Amino acid sequence: MDVCIIGAGIAGLTAAIYVQRAGLQSVIFERSIYGGQIIVSPTVDNYPGMPGIDGATLANAVYEQATAQGAELRFEDVLSIERQEDGFAVTTTEGSTTFPAVIFAGGAARRSLGCEGEERFNGRGVSYCATCDGAMYRGKTAAVIGGGNTALEDALYLANLCEKVYIIHRRNEFRGDRVLAEAVLNNPRIEAVLDAQLSAITGDRHVEGLDVVFRDGSTRHLDVSGVFIAIGLSPDTALLKGIVPLDEGGYALAGEDCSAGIPGLFVAGDCRSKPLRQLVTAASDGAVAAFGAANYINAGKH
Ligand code: NAP
Repeated sequence: MDVCIIGAGIAGLTAAIYVQRAGLQSVIFERSIYGGQIIVSPTVDNYPGMPGIDGATLANAVYEQATAQGAELRFEDVLSIERQEDGFAVTTTEGSTTFPAVIFAGGAARRSLGCEGEERFNGRGVSYCATCDGAMYRGKTAAVIGGGNTALEDALYLANLCEKVYIIHRRNEFRGDRVLAEAVLNNPRIEAVLDAQLSAITGDRHVEGLDVVFRDGSTRHLDVSGVFIAIGLSPDTALLKGIVPLDEGGYALAGEDCSAGIPGLFVAGDCRSKPLRQLVTAASDGAVAAFGAANYINAGKH
């Protein structure tokens, strides 16, 4: 094996396609399911050439493309990456192997809010995935927390199922794309609760309500059956700590060439510090990292 790819999201799978096409052999380690965050996206409208494709179909197509090229996907959890003289020892739940080059594409996961009741009601009305759990709130009232693209998309998705949806955002302007923000504001089933933060999620055995505090100090209680938290991502870079410098948000400081500053180690996708995290930039990172890894191996630098 020439290149170890950690993470089978779009960055990792694209890296595998490019490694294989460079005549090298890759193995991808993935702890859960391939495809990454996109698999729960009902529609992807900003991937060039495929308007309206659903995330799972797109992820499957990329997976098929990578494995058809000969990439090997192993469902193993990576426990550590250790730099050695002749490469990197990658230890998984199944054992340890040394690879000349590693592409880390660990991605990012949704952040938690940390408010009262969030942990207690997790899975009992608190969710981090509208497309996974939204159907449970058909005909009911739900809320989405956040003002980015994920929150806006979640609110629109839920508005097709729920009787009413609140979108609660800490500022009076959404961070997400204007086209989505306008769709949210024009949707009669969605009420925007702005300049507002959650102080508590309340209920008995299941979520029953939300306590909201506004910027001016006033408060409001909302009766809801479910709350979807969409306040951004947290990079999955724990394995890189002490090996690769991380920024204040925990994202890996690798440059546009995806090089992590250590010969043979590359970082691709959402876990890399960069201005735009999209499918298209994840795929781009995968290609760039694979190009760097192939050049590194072909130059016999390991
Ligand atoms: P995001 O863009 O980072 O937005 C996070 C939102 O949560 C922001 O509105 C932020 O408020 C709010 N927030 C953060 N911490 C909070 C806290 N402690 N309490 C209350 N609110 C808090 O995250 P995202 O929406 O998950 O998107 C992540 C990335 O994926 C982005 O680059 C996004 O563009 C991309 N994405 C793209 C699409 C698409 O293009 N279709 C879909 C989904 C995601 P402030 O605005 O005040 O900071």
